[in-house]
Amino acid sequence: MQPEQPDRGKETNWSGSQSPFRRALSAAMVYLVAGIIWITFSDRIVEIWFPDPRSLSAMQTWKGFLFVAVTGLVLFVVILRLLSKDRLLLSLQRDQRRALRQREQQLRVLMDNLPGMAYRCRNDDSWTMLFVSGGCEQLTGYLPDELINNKLVSYAALMDPDAIEQVAEEVAIALRKGKSFSLEYAITRKDGRKVWVWERGCGVEHEDGSVYLEGIVLDISDRKELETELEQMATRDPLTGLLNRREFSRVLEEELERASRYERPMALLWIDFDHFKDINDSWGHAAGDSVLCSVSRTLEDSVRSVDAVGRFGGEEFVIVMPEMDIEGAWDTAERLRQRVSNKPIPLASGHSIPLTISVGVAVYPVHGHSLESLCGAADKAMYQAKMQGRNCVAMAKPIEPVHNET
Ligand code: GH3
Ligand code: MG
Ligand code: MG
Repeated sequence: MQPEQPDRGKETNWSGSQSPFRRALSAAMVYLVAGIIWITFSDRIVEIWFPDPRSLSAMQTWKGFLFVAVTGLVLFVVILRLLSKDRLLLSLQRDQRRALRQREQQLRVLMDNLPGMAYRCRNDDSWTMLFVSGGCEQLTGYLPDELINNKLVSYAALMDPDAIEQVAEEVAIALRKGKSFSLEYAITRKDGRKVWVWERGCGVEHEDGSVYLEGIVLDISDRKELETELEQMATRDPLTGLLNRREFSRVLEEELERASRYERPMALLWIDFDHFKDINDSWGHAAGDSVLCSVSRTLEDSVRSVDAVGRFGGEEFVIVMPEMDIEGAWDTAERLRQRVSNKPIPLASGHSIPLTISVGVAVYPVHGHSLESLCGAADKAMYQAKMQGRNCVAMAKPIEPVHNET
């Protein structure tokens, strides 16, 4: 809905006309000249036409009346025109004021009903807010007055410290290019809760030459949560929370590429639970699930933060360990095996289930150069461990050197 506009046609170019002093002076000069001409020439004419002193005196009286009547009429027309202009000006001002009030009211309603917070702020380190809409309280927990001019807290203080530098950089680039900016970052509300926001704004140059930032900030926490959930679903195994097969393969591929580029070793452990079917058969599938989760935690807690643990399927787990040579990988596998076998898994029922694992170890570049060859070597080594009686670790066989036939 457009606010009512004052009638532009009615507007007169007031500013373009002469100054009031000059206009008054010209009117007075016209009056003066006309008066002098009238008195000089009318007296002569009357004296010529009416030589008789009595009729001359009467005519001069009538001449006086005529002069007063004409100047009175001119004065009337001039004052009427001035007053009409004044009235036009006043009604124009009234229309403009009404339109302005209407616009302000519409803007206020719009601002207060916007999802999120509209703002105008200085482009300084504190993001000093000069105006924030009513949505400020719902978004930040602070009242607009507490945020404006950094009265209680500055907006920059709410922003995630890690994001401030990047946000400042993106705003500077947008201002340089004269474009708007879109940002996503987290802020901490007054109640300490962290919310994700999306901000879109642009630089607006004001009459004094200073540039302010104006835009809108929306709460996108729900979307972010959904994104994280979707990402979890796409990359994590729902039962154990470990990397799923697809994500683990991606990580392994990435680590393999890095190891090959920098010519560094990288180890892969292939783990399978021993006689796990018996656990399911004896204790039930739910207990089996609980064992899977419990061992997952043990595996995660037993490796470095740079290592990645994944569930490849069933009760088969894999661990990729960057910068790990054969000896290190063997020691880690042995440590894991002992840790699992020494710690029977407690169930909610109070019982504890003893469990052992068989581990196959393959190391890049000794046992394979590609994802497939390395996985194949580790899997084979794990079966070797099974063959050796289970609850043990087996190292993969080195790649056979290729002999050129002569
Ligand atoms: P082995 O020592 O030869 O490995 O014997 P195993 O019984 O562990 O044999 P295998 O590895 O072939 O059996 C895997 C079993 O794991 C079969 C299946 O019932 C069980 N299993 C696979 N996925 C799940 C799961 O998500 N939950 C539970 N509770 N059991 C699972
Ligand atoms: Mg098994
Ligand atoms: Mg298995």
